[in-house]
Amino acid sequence: MIYLDNAATTRVCPEAVKAAIAVMAEGFGNPSSRYAHGVAAAERLQADRAAVAAAVGCLPEELFFTSCGTEGDNWAIRAAVEYGKRKGRHIITTTIEHSAVLEPIRALASQGYEVTYLRPDRWGHISPQELATALRPDTVLVSMMLVNNELGTILPVKETAAAIRASGCPALLHTDAVQAFLKVPFTPNDLGVDLLTISGHKVRAPKGIGALYIRKGLRLKPMLLGGGQENGMRPGTEPTAQIAALAAACQVWMDHRERYASGIQRAKKHFLDVFSAALPQGVVVSPGDAPHICAVSLPGYPSEMLVRELSDRGICVSSGSACHRGKPSHVFAATGRPKGELLGVLRVSFSPESTPEEGEALVKALVEICSARVAAR
Ligand code: PLP
Repeated sequence: MIYLDNAATTRVCPEAVKAAIAVMAEGFGNPSSRYAHGVAAAERLQADRAAVAAAVGCLPEELFFTSCGTEGDNWAIRAAVEYGKRKGRHIITTTIEHSAVLEPIRALASQGYEVTYLRPDRWGHISPQELATALRPDTVLVSMMLVNNELGTILPVKETAAAIRASGCPALLHTDAVQAFLKVPFTPNDLGVDLLTISGHKVRAPKGIGALYIRKGLRLKPMLLGGGQENGMRPGTEPTAQIAALAAACQVWMDHRERYASGIQRAKKHFLDVFSAALPQGVVVSPGDAPHICAVSLPGYPSEMLVRELSDRGICVSSGSACHRGKPSHVFAATGRPKGELLGVLRVSFSPESTPEEGEALVKALVEICSARVAAR
């Protein structure tokens, strides 16, 4: 199998598998238990939190484990507007956020919040000037992703933080860094964000684990009510095996950070070069600013058909969160490109395991599929 859909999810790395098995089989104590087996689990949890916090670039006490990126996004948004409820009811976000951000904001809009949606240009970039203009004295939340999951574009989060500070408005700044984490360098402090979401399964940890960064000193409402876990902020017995796996995956990634970054970048660049050379009718919809994601299109060849035919050849890529029932995704639609181009979009996304040869095999398969279609006409 050739797997080039790493923005959807990644293969769990061996170190993460080993860490999870060790915790499930041996170190399975409940970190809240007072006997030695529980205390050992609590110590392990503390070490794992420190490892993930080091990878995020924050303090361990600023990191709260969640079940996934969706949970982190929902929590951040709801807690931020609750925090600002006496200061205003205006939210700013972008039209190209993941549904884990758009849907909770839509729910808030139905409760009377006013939402300004910033639109991207045709390359998927958001203008920091437009953001600055949209800020108001009653803006209580700006939620802007760091890397878009379908286009691979980097959004101006740091500039947004500066604009919020300059405007003096009370807005908290949340960034969904699910696709950015470990792929593009950042720390929450450098970005100037108050809240930041990550998800484990995008970085070679298992599904079922994520985290929300909450800036130190910011006192938000907990996600759930229950026991005192996660400092009372996200109660529920800690999923220690998934946390251990996330810590191991982060550790390996950090240890090989430069090699991983250049490997991913090389694999993507090679794919785009070979694609453009072999398929002159092809369009690079987004080369992606982030190293691991790009989007290409073969106008006239619907994505769903291409994904199916590539799958028959053992190649996994995505039509995106891309196309649903013959319609381009909200992200691709937001770029305003011609519909024919958008209906043939493929998102290709790379991991540290990806090779230039895999990209070549994908292009070769696309050439074969196109030739077979032309011959059948
Ligand atoms: N945000 C972005 C940008 C994503 O790409 C995803 C998943 O694709 C999510 C949020 C949701 O993360 P999870 O699958 O961990 O809920």
